[in-house]
Amino acid sequence: MTDEARRIRLIMELRSQGITDTRVLAAIERVPREIFVAAAFQDQAYENIALPIESGQTISQPYVVAAMTEALEVGARMKVLEIGTGSGYQAAVLSHLCRRLYTIERHRELLQGAEKRFAQLKLRNVVTKWGDGTKGWPEQAPFDRIIVTAASRDAPQALLDQLAVGGIMVIPLAANGRDQELVKIKRDARGYSRESFMPVRFVPLIPDAPEEAPKR
Ligand code: SAH
Repeated sequence: MTDEARRIRLIMELRSQGITDTRVLAAIERVPREIFVAAAFQDQAYENIALPIESGQTISQPYVVAAMTEALEVGARMKVLEIGTGSGYQAAVLSHLCRRLYTIERHRELLQGAEKRFAQLKLRNVVTKWGDGTKGWPEQAPFDRIIVTAASRDAPQALLDQLAVGGIMVIPLAANGRDQELVKIKRDARGYSRESFMPVRFVPLIPDAPEEAPKR
């Protein structure tokens, strides 16, 4: 089966799992997942599973990418912030749905790999930063949408502050330190409301000093 055929099969699977937003499905269809996964996992690039990437991190399962993207309700004119670039796959999907996508990663090596892929795919509306995403990106705030792709106990205060009024944040939270759930946080003039919508397993969100690329 060709990658193209595999990609179409994946879209049908996401539909049958309840992803209905056609803009989200079209964005996923436009992103070649095979370039985001390691050579050893090429044959599994279109399986609906999470896969390992460098630095002990993972590229999320396509279903989770789809569900988070759908929950984010992204509009074409929006500024979106992602914390945890990883392979860059989620960022690439979002870049097709918004005006500008800002993404922060703490592992320099991962960020460099993702930047190469954005260039290869000519995604010119993606802006990257190496650093601690729990601090957000104050110079670019406020953001209409914020997506966090690593888990913590609570939403970092800087990210709540940098969410625009009328904005939405999607973040995996483990309230008891163990079981994680995706939480949709909406900000309006009166404050924040929260609603959890599905169980997930993400790698941890690690605050403080980011990681240098290993010396070669
Ligand atoms: N969105 C990614 C998957 C992310 S895995 C993709 O589509 O491939 C989670 C990522 O969050 C990891 O790469 C990890 O290094 C990063 N991360 C963890 N804590 C972070 C922090 N404080 N700031 C920025 N990135 C962080």
